[in-house]
Amino acid sequence: MGGIVKEPPLHIMHVAVEMAPIAKVGGLGDVVTSLSRAVQDFGHTIDIILPKMFCVGCVYGRNDDGDRFGFFCHAALEFILHSGFRPDILHCHDWSSAPVAWLFKENYMHYGIGNARVIFTIHNLEFGIGQIARAMVYADRATTVSNTYSKEVSGNPAISPHLYKFHGILNGIDPDIWDPYDDNFIPVSYTSENVVEGKKAAKESLQQRLGLRKSDHPLLGIVTRLTVQKGIHLIKHAIRRTLDCNGQVVLLGSAPDPRIQNDFVNLANQLHQSHGDRVRLCLTYDEPLSHLIYAGSDFILVPSIFEPCGLTQLIAMRYGSIPIVRKTGVSAMTKVKIWTPILGLYDTVFDVDDDKERAQSEGLEPNGFNFEGADSAGVDYALNRAISAWYDGREWFNLLCKRVMQQDWSWNKPALDYIEVYHAARK
Ligand code: ADP
Repeated sequence: MGGIVKEPPLHIMHVAVEMAPIAKVGGLGDVVTSLSRAVQDFGHTIDIILPKMFCVGCVYGRNDDGDRFGFFCHAALEFILHSGFRPDILHCHDWSSAPVAWLFKENYMHYGIGNARVIFTIHNLEFGIGQIARAMVYADRATTVSNTYSKEVSGNPAISPHLYKFHGILNGIDPDIWDPYDDNFIPVSYTSENVVEGKKAAKESLQQRLGLRKSDHPLLGIVTRLTVQKGIHLIKHAIRRTLDCNGQVVLLGSAPDPRIQNDFVNLANQLHQSHGDRVRLCLTYDEPLSHLIYAGSDFILVPSIFEPCGLTQLIAMRYGSIPIVRKTGVSAMTKVKIWTPILGLYDTVFDVDDDKERAQSEGLEPNGFNFEGADSAGVDYALNRAISAWYDGREWFNLLCKRVMQQDWSWNKPALDYIEVYHAARK
């Protein structure tokens, strides 16, 4: 990284359709904001061009998404051309702002807009493969959101011709936005030093707010988009299993697909009747409540079938909640029947029993509970150990909470990797 210090500061303009907290549907919104802030902290200038939406929260899901986003990319480049901005780097994200790559290289570059380089980041290859493939051709450099994901997608025909300019850089979280020491949505500020007191107060506040019984029982939190990718059947099983173990469950999630939303509304009605003082399913999008859940839960479950990086498990750890995640499964990209890592989850969560050596090789201590496969036995393997540790080894469990809080999942290092990619694109 020594070379970076001597390089002049860069002007980077992002073109993106999400930016937390103004317009956020999932991790893309978090990344655009937090990566920008981290790179800015290293002395570079950042601008973000975002579409003005009349309904924040309904970014996607209209029949004309492609047309709207294409128009937006054109408008963003027109704005740059006429405003006099001459960025060093144009950074576009996923299929939604992929058109910036070819519109710039085919047209705007020749209109006197300067010689910006185009960086393209793939957050999820599942969507808009046509646009993603085309942007890969035109981008000067491309990145994706974890090392394991970059390997997973390297055989995809959209990616394989471009491996020489393709980098896997693990996402981070913004430690100022997700900070239990300075968070208006939780009752008591805490660090790893007073994690037990801080989380106790947050759990009580969460129980009170959602009408759950105020009791000292293990609490499982789930914060997710409710889509097949996120392991819906495993989520349902984990809810029931936790209730069987006398625990409490809070789920915050919304489903873009009305059939899935209805299914969860029915489940919520059933569960609120049968176990009303121990489970609450909040089927909406609620940023403030998500903070209280991260702080007030003992565990956060992320049983994704497929997860390029995943931020939920990183946010959980920042709040001293122990991640329970799916580690391996059948490759979703290649559909080949071999067990492969669940990408970002494998890169960031190391099982307290099974991954000691793997964690050590990354310079880390184990930090969670993992399971393999996509059936209920897998979930039980992780959940049972986590809940037993909570009941029978509280001192050990509290030390684990402290330890995960001390791990650094911020942008400190990944931002430097991005800056290196920006500079490399300009060579
Ligand atoms: P993805 O981008 O696939 O949805 P990530 O784990 O990368 O998954 O990012 C999810 C982000 O969205 C996290 O910041 C999480 O807290 C937030 N989130 C997901 N669902 C909700 C919800 N219903 N309410 C509030 N925040 C949510």
